[in-house]
Order: sequence, then C-alpha cells, then structure tokens
Amino acid sequence: MPKFNRMQRDRDTSGSYARKPRHPPGLKGKDIGLYYRNLARQQKKDRGEEQPQIRLGCNVSVPSGVLTRVKEFMEEYNRAPTRDKRDVDAQFKRQFRHLLKVNFEDFVAETKEKNEGLDYTNAKLDETLQLELEQRQQEDNGRERLAARNKLPTMKYAKKIVKAVRKNQVILIVGSTGCGKTTQVPQILLDDAISRGCASSCRIVCTQPRRISAITIAEWVSYERCESLGNSVGYQIRLESRKPRERASITYCTTGVLLQQLQSDPLMHNLSVLILDEIHERSVETDLLMGLLKVILPHRPDLKVILMSATVREQDFCDYFDNCPMFNIEGVMFPVQMLYLEDVLAKTNYQFQKSRDRRPKRDGPERQMNHAAMIEPYLRRIRNSYDSRVLEKLRLPESEGCEDIDFIADLVYYICENEPEGAILVFLPGYDKISQLYTLLDKPKTPKGQRWRDHIAVFPLHSLMQSGEQQAVFKRPPKGKRKVIISTIIAETSVTIDDVVYVINPGRTKATNYDIETNIQMLEEVWVTKANTQQRKGRAGRVRPGICYNLFSRAREDRMADIPTPEILRSKLESIILSLKLLHIDDPYRFLQTLINAPNPDAIKIGVDLLMRIDALDKTGTLTPLGMHLAKLPIDPQMGKMILMSALFCCLDPITSAAAALSFKSPFYSPLGQESRVDEIKRRMSNNMRSDHLLVHSTIVAYRESRYAHADRDFCYQNFLSSMTLQQLERMKNQFSELLYNYKFLTSSNCKDSASNMNSEKIPLLRAIIGAGLYPNMAHLRKSRQIKNRVRAIHTMATDDGRRVNFHPSSVNSGESGFDSEYFVYFQRQKSTDLFLLDSTMVFPMALIIFGDGVEAGVTENKHYLCVAKTYYFKCDQETADVVLELRGNLEKLLLKKALYPAPIEDNGYEKQLIKAIELLLSLDESMGEDYMSSDEIDDI
Ligand code: ADP
Ligand code: MG
Repeated sequence: MPKFNRMQRDRDTSGSYARKPRHPPGLKGKDIGLYYRNLARQQKKDRGEEQPQIRLGCNVSVPSGVLTRVKEFMEEYNRAPTRDKRDVDAQFKRQFRHLLKVNFEDFVAETKEKNEGLDYTNAKLDETLQLELEQRQQEDNGRERLAARNKLPTMKYAKKIVKAVRKNQVILIVGSTGCGKTTQVPQILLDDAISRGCASSCRIVCTQPRRISAITIAEWVSYERCESLGNSVGYQIRLESRKPRERASITYCTTGVLLQQLQSDPLMHNLSVLILDEIHERSVETDLLMGLLKVILPHRPDLKVILMSATVREQDFCDYFDNCPMFNIEGVMFPVQMLYLEDVLAKTNYQFQKSRDRRPKRDGPERQMNHAAMIEPYLRRIRNSYDSRVLEKLRLPESEGCEDIDFIADLVYYICENEPEGAILVFLPGYDKISQLYTLLDKPKTPKGQRWRDHIAVFPLHSLMQSGEQQAVFKRPPKGKRKVIISTIIAETSVTIDDVVYVINPGRTKATNYDIETNIQMLEEVWVTKANTQQRKGRAGRVRPGICYNLFSRAREDRMADIPTPEILRSKLESIILSLKLLHIDDPYRFLQTLINAPNPDAIKIGVDLLMRIDALDKTGTLTPLGMHLAKLPIDPQMGKMILMSALFCCLDPITSAAAALSFKSPFYSPLGQESRVDEIKRRMSNNMRSDHLLVHSTIVAYRESRYAHADRDFCYQNFLSSMTLQQLERMKNQFSELLYNYKFLTSSNCKDSASNMNSEKIPLLRAIIGAGLYPNMAHLRKSRQIKNRVRAIHTMATDDGRRVNFHPSSVNSGESGFDSEYFVYFQRQKSTDLFLLDSTMVFPMALIIFGDGVEAGVTENKHYLCVAKTYYFKCDQETADVVLELRGNLEKLLLKKALYPAPIEDNGYEKQLIKAIELLLSLDESMGEDYMSSDEIDDI
C-alpha cells in the first residue's frame, strides 16, 4: 500500500540528532528514547507549534453515480409518514420517560406508596405448613437428616440467630467455611417462621456469587428437607430457574438476578429476609447491593438482612453497617499441615522437562529476572535445609504455579501411593487447565499414570458445568477409588466437599484487572492472596487432619497480597454506571462514593465518556433510549450495541457469534508447544477475512456441519476446539436472540432464522456492524513491512489514543500483509512487554464514517476531508461529504425511532431504503464490489 511511508517522513522532519543535548546519565534503553521524545515535544510546545497536525488518510470519495443512488434511497426513506401509529410502543415510552423523570428517592417513595398495606398473611397456609413440619420430623428420613444437620456448628447458634434477627435489622454471621452458614441459616429462619405459625409472611432470598453454587446448594437444601426442588426451596439464575413456592420459601439466586429485580421492586416488598452470602469475596455485585441496602433499609424497617462472610476482614462489614451485631461461628477444624513447593519437590523428586513452549515468550527475560530476584536470596537462606537438587528446581520459573500440569498429575499419584485414603482437591485457575489435567489423569501417558488410572475417580468442578452434572462431586467415590476433584475458586468457600483431606494449591487464579492509566481491562491469571491460601488450607481439615500442598515457595507467599482487591476497584465501570441508571441512580459519582470501597473518580469518568461516545448517554450524561436497551442487555454495552445493530441489519447469526465469543471466550485452545499449529488452523478457517471475530462464526458454522455429520468429536480434536465452549457459545447466541426477540427487535427468537439473516453473507456489512459495536476501540496500521525471506510481516500500528500496539500472536491478523484497509477495531488490549490487540477486525473507512461519532467535514490546505472523532481524517470531495453527513443524520433518526418503538426493519418498508443506502456505500470498499452491487440490483426487482 502506497500510504505507508508516512511514519518515515515524520521521523525525518522531527529534527536532526546532531544538535541535541545529551541525555542525563543513568538512563538506559527505552528511557533514553522517551527522554528525547519528551524533550522534542516540550521544545515544540515552547515554540507554540502544538497545533494538531492534520494528516489526511486515503480518499473516501464516492463515484457520483453511486451517490445519486444513495440520495434516491434516502429520498424514499424520507417519504415515510412522520408518525406511523402502528410502531408506537407506548409501554417503552412510558418506562423510558419515567426513568428519566424520577430520581431514586422518588422512585423508592413511589413503590412504597404502591405497596402500602400489602399483606401476605394466610392463616390456612400457616397451619398446613406447621403440620407438615411436625410430620416430617416424625418420619425416619426427616429425623435422620435433621440429626445430620444438627452436627453442623451453625445449628448450635440457631436460637441466637433467630433472636438476633428479631431484634436487629442487620446482622453479620462470620464463620469458617463449611460450618453450615449457606445451607442452614435460611432453613433456621424458615423453620422458625413455620413453627411459630407465620410462614406465609416469610420469603427468604439468599444470594450466591456464582450460578453453579446457587443450583448445587438449592438441590442439597431440598434434599435436607426431604423435598424435591421447587417446593420450599428453589433457585433463580439468569435465564434459568426452579422457583420455589411464593411464600414460606427460600430462593438461592445469583447476586446479579437480585440486582435486576430491584429495577421493578427497589424495596424488595415481597421479601422478608435477604441474606447476602460470601460478601468477603467483594464482588462488584455484593458491594453494589450493600451500598443500595443502605438507602433501602430505612424505607423497609421490617426487612431483615443477614450478611454472611468467611473470616476475611469481617470488621469492615460490621463498620459499614453501623457496627451491626456480629456472630462468629467456630467450625470444627482438624490441623492441616502446610507444605510449600520446596517440601513438595523434596518429597516427590519430580523432574521438570526443559521448557517445551516453542513460541518465544515475550515476557521471558523479564520474568526470569523477577523470579531470580525473588528466589536467589531465599535459596541462600534455606540452602542448609534442602537438598541441592531441590534448590536447583526452585530456580526454574515454571516449577511454581500450574504451568506444568504433569507435575500436578505426578503429585496426585504421589499422594495416592503414599498417603492414607481421603479425597484430593486440586485448585486450578480456569476451565482450560482443569480440562488439561482431567484429560491427563483420564488418558495417562506414563506407566505410573496408567497404573493409577483405575484407582481414582476424577471430578471437574467449574462454572461451565450444566445443572445436574455437579452433584456427583459430593457423593462418596466407588469402593477402592480415591476421589480427585479439580475445581476453580468455587470450591474455596462457596461449595464444601466433605471428604477432602488433601488440597493441592498451585496458588493461581483468574482475576480481572483494570489499569486506569491505559484504560485496559483484562482477565489474567494471577497469584492468589494469603487469605485465599488460608481458605484453601481449611478445606483439607474437615474430616480429619489433612495436608495442603502449596505449589509455590515460602518466598513467593511472602510476596503475595494479604487479601484480594475488591473487584470494583479493578473493573471498568461502564456496565455498572449503565445498570445504575435503570435503578434511577443518575449520578454515578455520588452513589459510587458511598460504597464500602469507592472506585477512583477517573475510572468513573472513563466509563461515562465511553457511554457518551457510543450514544448510551447524551452529552449531559442522561440515559438515551438506546442506552436503556443496552442497560437491559446482560452484556457489555459495546457488545449490546453490536447485537442490536445486527438485528436491524439482518445479520444476526454471525454477529451474535462474535459477541458471544467476546463476552465469553474463544473456542480455540492452545496446548503448550502447539501454538503455531493452532494459529495455522485459525488462519485457514478465517478464509482471509482479516477478522478474529468473523473467524469465530466460521468456526461455529463448521462445527454445526460436523455435528450434522456426527463428526464433531474428530472435528474439535483436529482443530484444537473445545466443544464445551462451542456449545456454551451457541447457548449464549440463543439467549441473545431470545432477548432481542422479547424486546421486539426480531420476528423470531431463533438466531438462525432466515429473516434475521438476510445479510449474513455480506462480509463488508458484517465488518461494519462489528465496527459499529466495538467503536471507539480503533487502531490504525501505519506501516506493514515484509522483510525478504521472512514469512511474517512487521507492523507499525497505533490505537486512537496514540499508543503503539501490535496484533497479538494468536490473532489471525498477526504477521499478515496485504490488508485492504489500514483500520481495525478491537475489543481487548493486553499489556505484557508490548501492547497487543487480542482480537481485531479489519474495517473500511466508510464503516467508521457511518457508525463512528464526531464525524465532521472540513477543509485543510484546500483539500476537503471527513474526519472521525478528530482522530482519523480522510480525503473526501464535498458532494460525498454532504451525502454521507445527511445519511448519518437519517441513521441517527432511525436508531432513535427504533429504540423508542422497537420493531424489526420491514423488508419493503421505508426504513429498508436507508439500510440499502448504507449497504451500498459499504459495499464499495470490498474488492468484490461489483458482484455485490449486482446482487443488490436483483433484490430491487
Ligand atoms: P458454609 O456456607 O458455612 O461454608 P455450607 O452451608 O455450604 O457451609 O455447608 C455445610 C455442609 O453442607 C458441609 O459440610 C457440606 O458438606 C454440606 N453440603 C453442602 N452442599 C452439599 C451437597 N451438594 N452435597 C453434599 N453435602 C453438601
Ligand atoms: Mg457458604
């Protein structure tokens, strides 16, 4: 591409190096460059040359024949009667007006008035339930299960808890994990109400941090009550529920579901007791809920709140709720021996393979140095206590954590061979590693593994499991087999498996991190905190003395943080700000300040700014109709906008694939050492579309075909695809379609429906819709160099904030050359030593011009241009600029109308004309332009 020499020119004109003063002594490497850059900037500023320099990019002028056609389409569009009564959705309008008009205090007062005099008492029901309870306690089953329950420490506090709840509005229950808080406290309160004959006024909700714990616990509690699920006990998670009876019941729900219910019932009038469980995890949802409770409680004096936490900084919660009464429940705990990596290595004598990862690790040397800085002083301290072979192994960075899954498998076999019976609980950061270890134990490659294979029963435990699958984990294993549970953080506090005696703790977990400075949020594998390790240790001492094998050294533990940072301090806030608006909380700055840990106002501002740019909020920060829809969708607002646009532009199937993978994860996995093979497969499957997002869709399509041919197992195996992830993506796609259908943007709830997919083959349009969603995350590829004899091209690229970036090696765009456009959209950036775009799709300038914000026409040095957000300037003749700006005005009107009166775009209606105009403009960019236009002509006949 001829335009790529711009960088070169800039460097030449930026001044010669000869006259520059020397840099301060002591600067090294990159810092020297940075010093000179800043100096040059300062000098420029001093000379008053800071004017933003306009660099014109490629020419986007449209041939006048096409412009004429576009204008004709627009004329037809504008012929629509101004008010089309059929479209009016009075309900939406009313809701939206109400949302804007009423602030939170008024909203609360309003619902309070509505629910005045509400009375659920039902004497007949009370009596029946009382009899039923008495009867159950007579039966063998009931007596047995009650006796088992009575052994739990929490049950010893039953009377005290009941009394405290009667006397106080808020109480805090702290207790070691497994002492029976989650399963017993709701039952204690329900049974108390039943036996006092006032069960009909009792409805208990207990929030859980994860979907799977809500299900498992509800199932277990129903069992304890000798009932089937859906009687007095049920669960409710997003898009799935087994609700219990209306009154005299316990519902375990995810915190998110409860937050959502507050939108229609902010004072929770139908609840009598709210239990917030696992608040020590400090998830965004529980922190928000605690903040909201402080506003709600004065209005609901009869609502009782019980906060439950493991023993982690419990005083913070007590203080936050004005020194509420606190119960400390002592669990029965057997001693647990703590072994660290050095001890484990001394015991097992495991030999690490030389690093098998063939891809050069970008963070290699730095990591090596950091590791050495930590371990060397420690090795000197312990050299007299450990064998030199152990010390040598500790030097290897890959010895700690869970990089070497074979090491963990070997430790499992070691325990089987050397320790008395008892289940083994292995903590791993996420599904991928769990699945790796599972496969390794299930299909062992070593003789040792084969020997033990039939003596162990392995159970994975993670959030991707379907309901019903997880109960097996709790059962006693078949005779002669040892149970091995491989779990994410979920087994740390939220579910308890009784017979665990050995815990393997590699000390790694997945956490989101957000850097305000760079505005980068990502889910990373990180070291756990000391508090996590303490909880994990506790899991080994429930039935008898146990052992906790930490796969990190004592030196590493010294460097670990004491407790996790609350999630809200490490998250992007746009989704949160948007969902607060649905609760009539208009000022995010004010409300978020009241939380137990207030996020940084700069982070709030970044969130508000993004929401303004994507038109979810207007310039004053008020919710727009589009914003209201995005707030209701359970995904990131950018993805929400993407799927909404895909409904209007009839390309639902491919775009929901992209949105699902962005919200969840890529279906590809990369075993160590196989990365380049996986990359190759991705490239093949991406059909040169230059898009990681469209790749997901072509993968899903191929997967569907393989299923149809009953060849999906082979297909997944050969292509490094996870069928579990693919199935989850399909489920998410269906959920999205269902939601859009319920909001009336679609005529069918099936994402493969033909009417919703009329444009699903039009690649230029798909690119543009992905761009419309991911905007304003843009990147500009300034230069792509193909060096002789090298396969991979070298890129010079920057995101719109001016930061240099590169495609991540796992992106299909990495190392490619010959792109048809220099512009890309992305969702995630990742920072290691370099800044990478984890995912990207090539887009054409016209897509940015049509769907971007701040698009303006102007003239510089006698040349007309169109610019996007004062970032990218494109040469453009005046006629094109006029037409495009008019088109944008029309599109804005259309989107507003669709948001206010949701409905699909009718195939032959006025609105379709505008869509056609947009399609026509977008189609010009693709090399297939002509074919594309002719098929459009056929449509017209
Ligand atoms: P806490 O909330 O205090 O951590 P729980 O109420 O979750 O404790 O657990 C109490 C007991 O209930 C544990 O001993 C655990 O073994 C048992 N339990 C919980 N869920 C199940 C289940 N699905 N199957 C078998 N036992 C369970
Ligand atoms: Mg619990």
